[in-house]
Formats: sequence, structure tokens, C-alpha cells
Amino acid sequence: MPLKIYNTLTRKKEEFVPLKKGEVGMYICGPTVYNYIHIGNARPFIIFEVVRRFLKFKGYRVKYIQNLTDIDDKMINNAKKLKIKVSELAEKFIQEYFIDADSLNIERADVHPRATEHIKEIIELVKGLEEKGYAYKIDGDVFFDVSKFKDYGKLSGQNIKELKDGARVKIDERKKEAIDFALWKRAKEGEPSWQSPWGQGRPGWHIECSAMSMRYLGKTFDIHAGGSDLVFPHHENEIAQSEAYNNQQFVRYWMHNGYLYLNNQKMSKSLGNIMKVRDICQKYKGEVIRYFILSAHYRSPLNFSEEQLQQAERSLQRLGNAIFNVKHLLKQDKFKKSKDKDDESILEKRRESEQKFIEAMNDDFNTPVALSQLFGFSREINIYLNSPGLKNKEVIEETLKFYQELAGKILGILEDFDREESFEQEIEKLIKEREEARKERNWVESDRIRNKLQEKGILLEDTPSGVRWKKTK
Ligand SMILES: [Zn+2]
Repeated sequence: MPLKIYNTLTRKKEEFVPLKKGEVGMYICGPTVYNYIHIGNARPFIIFEVVRRFLKFKGYRVKYIQNLTDIDDKMINNAKKLKIKVSELAEKFIQEYFIDADSLNIERADVHPRATEHIKEIIELVKGLEEKGYAYKIDGDVFFDVSKFKDYGKLSGQNIKELKDGARVKIDERKKEAIDFALWKRAKEGEPSWQSPWGQGRPGWHIECSAMSMRYLGKTFDIHAGGSDLVFPHHENEIAQSEAYNNQQFVRYWMHNGYLYLNNQKMSKSLGNIMKVRDICQKYKGEVIRYFILSAHYRSPLNFSEEQLQQAERSLQRLGNAIFNVKHLLKQDKFKKSKDKDDESILEKRRESEQKFIEAMNDDFNTPVALSQLFGFSREINIYLNSPGLKNKEVIEETLKFYQELAGKILGILEDFDREESFEQEIEKLIKEREEARKERNWVESDRIRNKLQEKGILLEDTPSGVRWKKTK
């Protein structure tokens, strides 16, 4: 089943064919490490990490690069405000970023290159662009000459003439055209700077992604991803710089996710309506945020509300219970050797759900449809588990594998097995205590424990072969 990806460059869903058989090079624009990330920042980080997981599931070797922007205006301004060095600010918020990434179960990229550690590559690139006539220098600043790059606008669909006409007054009067952008910026007093052929200075923002993606993935690579607010000008400028320099295609598939809204307004720091991941995690597990993000198609707009999070929490709980009960059964019960009609039928449903899940993911990573398959199958397995009689072990094992592969490995949810282990031990301990209380005819104590178990959503069943239990909420 071929994988189809919506390519912003061609505005079409296309079959995914990597440059090198069996390998995928992927670059995603990472955080500017000047503050905590908000949930709008987290959306692309979660989505494209799921893309990476699915590509791996399909057998590709994926090289996944996510940069850390550790020098730019926002970094400089915030460091000034906090009266610390830009490098100190970067160190702090790189650590904070990884703490948030961990709570969202976002795996590390293969490389997290930092702009300030690639100044040499950046200078090489700017020098090359200058030599080829694509860049011009004015008093220690270097600008990209957009009019020299014929394909400018091909990603965002913008027309260069309209852009020029529509551009407001040149913010920097020295530029030839208002849409020309900075490749290198002359150092200002008190700002971090590096020695360059144009004097002391620092890189512009767009150039770092061209330099670092080229360094780790080559001149042409498979997938470049980010939020749709990056299409213009950031990614348009990356294409211009990279293709002007290399004279060959930069990226084959461009992927962009939709905006995240808060009360139907785009979430952005400038509007002041942001929700930090760190703050939400005070109240909800990171997994709930992850689930909420994956419950919508990545290209659709997504509206954030507390209600949506609560709903996500309940949905996760439902799936979690199904998995928990399957695992519990696998450890506790006796099994029957034979398979009857019901066993065969549930195995068939499992196969169908898995197939539909993978079909949905192959269709431009349709995670909401994929999730619906998990729920559909959970309903079936609950009916199966609640039916009387011994169960077949293969069915139970296959069911567990279904969840581990699809929910755990691909979507990165419900992998919290250690926590469940200890939960299970706690329940077992309470059940033992209750049995002892019963032996001593201490009914008050045994009722107290039963109520406590009930609060935890545990349903006890006294059977001739001892107490059995199950999680119900
Ligand atoms: Zn970038």
C-alpha cells in the first residue's frame, strides 16, 4: 500500500518515493529557545514525529533532524530583559524544551543542530551566494537579492511582482527591494557576534535551516516540515537560498500543519493568547495533549479548549482500560487451547482494524481515522472479554500486539507500562489485604478495602478459584 503525502509545493497528494530506496531524510524547523513552548509550537513537533514513527514502521531508515534556533532577535531581546547572556538563555530553554518534549513523548531527533554551532557552514553558504551574484552587501549586512531567483514564490504561490507591489515601505531603506531578506546581520553593540568576511556579525534566521539541513541531509532531501506560518517567508526563503547555491532541487516533499486556535483565534505570542505546554501539564498528562493533537488531521485547523482536553482524557482512559484488562488477563488467567467461532471472529476483526489503521496513515497521515479504528476494535474486544468462559491465549496476545504496535509504536500513546505495573501491584496488595480481613471476619475492614478498590475503578468478582478483578473506569 503506497504512502501518499500532501505536498505543499505541488498542492497535491503524491505517492511518496524517497530519493534513496529504503531511506528518508527529514528536516523539521525546531523551537527558538527563548521561552517555554506553547501548545501551538508543540503541534508540528508531535505530528511530524508521528510521521517519522510511521515511516519507520513501514521499514524506512529515517534520518530526522530538528534544529534549535539559539540566536535571533527574540533571543537577544529576552536575554537583555533577563539580564543574562544569550548563550545562558539558550542553555536554559534547550533543557526546558527537552523536558516538555519528554512529557509529550516526543522522541529525540537524530541530530538537534544549533545555529551557533554551524556558523562556519552558514558563512560558507552566504559567501557562495555572494559569489554567484545572489547576494549583496551593505555596511556589514548581507541581503539575498530575490529578483535574481526566478522561482521565488513557488512554494507559497506568491507572485513576485504582486509581492513587490504589495510590500509596504521598505523597513530597511538600504535594501534594493522590500522583499529582499537578511542572510547576515552586522553586529550591534552588546550582541553576540562572529567574525566573517563582512565583519563581526550574526546569521539571519532563514539561512540556518538551509545550512544545517544541507550539512546533515545533503543538497536534496526528502521531507521538510513545519507549521503553515513558516511557508512564507521562512520556507520560501530557504528554497531560494538553497537552490540558488546548489543549482538543484532542495526538498522533494514539503509538509505543513494547520494552525492551532484558542477560542477561534490563532495562538501566537504576539496576540498574548498562548497556552504553555508546561502549564497544561500541571493538570493533564502530556499524553492527553498528544492525543488531542492527533485527534484532528494535521492539515486541519484545530481549536484548543479545556473541554477538548477533557474529552481527550476520557478517550485515552477508555483505550487504556481495554489495554489494561487485556494485559491483566494475560498474566492471571488460564486459557483454553482451542479456537472457536468467537475467537476466529475477533482475530479477523483485529486484522481488519489494523489494515484500516494503516490505510488511514498511508492516506496523508489521517490520524483521526486511525484512532477511530482503535476504538472500534476496543468495543469488540470488550464484548469478547466480557463473554463467559476461558479465553484463547493467541487472541489475547494478538490483541496486546495490536495496541503496542499501532497505539504505542506509531502514535506514541498508551505506552505507560511501568505506571500500570505498579498500579497492578497496588491492586493485588489491596486484594490480599481484603482476603485476610475476610478470613479474620473483619467485615468493616474488608468493606473499606472493597470501597477503596471501587474508587479506583476496580470490579471484584469472587469465583471458586479465588478473586478475579477488572478495571472499569
Ligand atoms: Zn527553519
